[in-house]
Amino acid sequence: MKVLPTYFSSVYAPPETPRFWRLSVAADLMQKLGLVEMIEPPPFDTSALSGLHSERYLTHFDQGIEPLASTLGIPWSTAVRDATYAMLSGQLAAVERAQSSGVCLNLACGFHHAVAERGSAYCALNGLALVAHARPDLRVFVIDCDEHGGNGTESFIAQLPNLYQASIFGTRFGCLGGPRSWTFHIRGRNAAAQYDAALDEVDDLIREHRPDLILYQSGADCHENDPKSLARISADQMFRRDLRVFGMARELTVPIVFVVAGGYQQPEQVAQLNANSVRAALQVFGEAATEPTPLTGAAAGAHTDPLVEDILAKGLLVPLGPATT
Ligand SMILES: [Zn+2]
Repeated sequence: MKVLPTYFSSVYAPPETPRFWRLSVAADLMQKLGLVEMIEPPPFDTSALSGLHSERYLTHFDQGIEPLASTLGIPWSTAVRDATYAMLSGQLAAVERAQSSGVCLNLACGFHHAVAERGSAYCALNGLALVAHARPDLRVFVIDCDEHGGNGTESFIAQLPNLYQASIFGTRFGCLGGPRSWTFHIRGRNAAAQYDAALDEVDDLIREHRPDLILYQSGADCHENDPKSLARISADQMFRRDLRVFGMARELTVPIVFVVAGGYQQPEQVAQLNANSVRAALQVFGEAATEPTPLTGAAAGAHTDPLVEDILAKGLLVPLGPATT
């Protein structure tokens, strides 16, 4: 694998909606860096949501009936609705792709705060729980490494016996833990060491429960410069986090789908962190797993795009090296 199969559509990122538009910035950067093979998701069949979210909420969100339609915290529009549906379609398609390729990115953001009756915190519908709902044949394990706890996903666990979650967060956001839901709260000093210890426990959980699929929330809002971050981990630590999660999937031969989840710095900065996650996936699953190619020096010089050169000069993209997992 030289490039990462990635579901994305311009429909994901309406320009008038900044929370979604940043996905387009990330997509552009990933393409300029030659990291991804973009795949357009098929049209979404909304019947896939039936029985997951309440019928009342689904109808109100589909038709723009307030106040429920905008409970995600973004004013409802047909563009917001269609972006959400497209991301959900990409999510289900990415699962099928990962079952053959091992890893797949759905370049989507918010899913994990949405509960059955409404949206929340930029998440309209829960695309993580949707996978477990649409694929009862799969034991689905969510590894949520967003800054915020996966409270919405956790709320679906009681109704989906094939759904498991481990959530590592700096901000709990109502994610309390319980049956098939494990929580790891990163706080105070030594965040990096705490994060490593939490990943050790997640590794044990994955080995114990042997899922058929991992869904990975590779959140960028736990980065030390993010205005919402309490976990405050460095770009290097985030890269090592990604390597470890992808390494778990690869070692145990469990297909993994990941989404970029939250990020509240400038879109260009979030895009750089998202690109690091793709580079980690390629380092673990791609040819770089055996032949690391540092994206500095001569390789960096191959890029003539001023944006890419500027990013490389600032050092926010982590240089590739031997895998640490
Ligand atoms: Zn978040």
